[in-house]
Amino acid sequence: MRSFDFVAAGSVPEAIGLLTEHGADAHLLAGGTALMLMMKQDLMQPKVLIGLNQIDELRGIRSLPDGGLEIGAMTTHRQAEQSDLVRAHAPSLAEAFGHVATIRIRNQATLGGNLVHADPAQDPPPMLMALGAAVEVTGPGGDRTIPLDELFVDYYETSLADEEVVRLVRLPPLPLTSRSRYLKFLPRTQDDYATVSVAAWLDLADDGTLRDLRLALGAAGSTPLRMTATEDALRGHRLSGDLIDEAGDLVSDEVDPIDDIRGSADYKREMSRVWVGRVLRDLRPTA
Ligand SMILES: Cc1cc2nc3c(=O)[nH]c(=O)nc-3n(C[C@H](O)[C@H](O)[C@H](O)COP(=O)(O)OP(=O)(O)OC[C@H]3O[C@@H](n4cnc5c(N)ncnc54)[C@H](O)[C@@H]3O)c2cc1C
Repeated sequence: MRSFDFVAAGSVPEAIGLLTEHGADAHLLAGGTALMLMMKQDLMQPKVLIGLNQIDELRGIRSLPDGGLEIGAMTTHRQAEQSDLVRAHAPSLAEAFGHVATIRIRNQATLGGNLVHADPAQDPPPMLMALGAAVEVTGPGGDRTIPLDELFVDYYETSLADEEVVRLVRLPPLPLTSRSRYLKFLPRTQDDYATVSVAAWLDLADDGTLRDLRLALGAAGSTPLRMTATEDALRGHRLSGDLIDEAGDLVSDEVDPIDDIRGSADYKREMSRVWVGRVLRDLRPTA
């Protein structure tokens, strides 16, 4: 690996100042699990790494007065997986964090690093999308909010500007009538990336009608994907067996996978259909 300088930032404004000062030569460092691999493979050659580990305001998980939840960017996957606040908000979210790689990686890797790394096969992003999350970022021009649907642009590419820092992820309050689920299809090993993954959030009326829903898939396109056409077709209908079959057909049209080491594009398309069906059957109220 090429040599580099390291500076520990003490605050978000200091990190932004250092990014501005060093320009394209600088890169933020959180847990380092993604960045160090990229540097070892010579895919990135930063001259200055700016450490975020000493910035207290990027840490912590907080319930909000309106029933929402905030998770700081430097929260590790393991902290989120084990957090009572995350579990109380949505057990499915704790489960998605618990699916990331191994405990060793989960103890080191952070939420902010995961989002900015933007690998479409990662676990937390589809679940966060299905739960309606947004990212709070700060840059030289001030703060802005990016809905998670608008953060991911392409493979390993986000809509974040070069000098912006992700501060936290905010989740809206969830109606008590809603439920959610995350399923990861792992045909190889338990600690692998997903072949496909499916996250669903449904708000059901007493008669089983879908008042609202959000569906998102991982590893099924160049970014984590919201299935908005499928959501529009299902909203307002009863979650029957026929509707679940229709959802599978619609999703297999909506995904856009490519061949990779975990399966061909055709296989992933078919698995998207199958695993969307499983998630929706899991979430269907028992009569
Ligand atoms: C062996 C292995 C297996 C893995 N398996 C899985 C898996 O099964 N599921 C899964 O979801 N993920 C998996 N991952 C990916 C892992 O989740 C990410 O590597 C990790 O979350 C990145 O976080 P980090 O803190 O290490 O980020 P870093 O490596 O420190 O940074 C990653 C990128 O994010 C930027 N960055 C970091 N924090 C911020 C911030 N606050 N604001 C702006 N930019 C920031 C950095 O500059 C860098 O570009 C795996 C990784 C490894 C190494």
